[in-house]
Amino acid sequence: VNVFFRPIDKINSVIETYPKGIAGFQRYTALLDTEPDIADAPDAIVAPQLTGEIRYQGVTFGYTGERPILKGIDLTIEAGKTVAFVGPSGAGKTTICSLLPRFYEVDGGMITIDGIDIRSMTLASLRGQIGIVQQDVFLFGGTIRENIAYGRLDASESDIIEAARRARLGEMIDAMPLGFDTIIGERGVKLSGGQKQRLAIARMFLKNPPILILDEATSALDTQTEREIQQSLSELSQGRTTLVIAHRLATIRNADRIVVVDDTGIAEQGAHEELVAKRGLYSRLHKAQHGN
Ligand code: ATP
Repeated sequence: VNVFFRPIDKINSVIETYPKGIAGFQRYTALLDTEPDIADAPDAIVAPQLTGEIRYQGVTFGYTGERPILKGIDLTIEAGKTVAFVGPSGAGKTTICSLLPRFYEVDGGMITIDGIDIRSMTLASLRGQIGIVQQDVFLFGGTIRENIAYGRLDASESDIIEAARRARLGEMIDAMPLGFDTIIGERGVKLSGGQKQRLAIARMFLKNPPILILDEATSALDTQTEREIQQSLSELSQGRTTLVIAHRLATIRNADRIVVVDDTGIAEQGAHEELVAKRGLYSRLHKAQHGN
């Protein structure tokens, strides 16, 4: 059952973290507030529990009529696999991912999940099965418990504790005098960047969606924290179809597949070693970032 969706809470049904810093998701909200076209089809179906096999077939899309951004994307992502999108800024990585929860509708072609056209699903049943983790985490001035439970509003106490444990928030919470009842935010305890990310991850363990979109952090956490977060994210992505919008190459080596996007579309795709050997765009990006 999808407990997230309440009409008033349209954005929050899928963006667990509020868009502040990252351009792509900022644009999402702007759009969600104003875009009247994206609504359930009159005969929309409630999507079944999805396994998450995703297929883009000849997908074309532009934000404005004049300038197409995606000019025929063909891409299949097997259920449970992790695919990382890399490529120059502005190439369309975020755009490709933003079409999946239908923040925008395709102009041409089709996106299916488990063979079902996403346009035929209700938005609630589609977005209820997609989790998004991004850098800027939306926290509200309540207890830690409430902030984690935001991932699934009907979660039981033991579910919340389990999610916190899996996101490795346990130690931090134990160290607080009021534990899960500690108030965070403006008038309470201020969390570090890493702790906020863990909280976002805990929400996702709780939501337990078959599909994840990870918008990789652009601003630096310290190396140790970053490594730990990366570890938690990789645990979170286990068994879920995961789309990573990668801004740095170092973190995506373990993806099952890397999709390199440039302004012509998908320039190349494959595993890390394969792409390095190919001496194409990926190998150039890789060299540029590692300076060798
Ligand atoms: P980055 O690595 O910088 O995040 P990206 O590969 O994710 O880049 P997108 O954010 O998908 O690229 O942007 C692709 C193109 O679409 C860019 O030229 C961008 O300016 C444009 N674009 C993105 N969002 C909008 C929007 N809401 N309205 C108009 N143009 C947009």
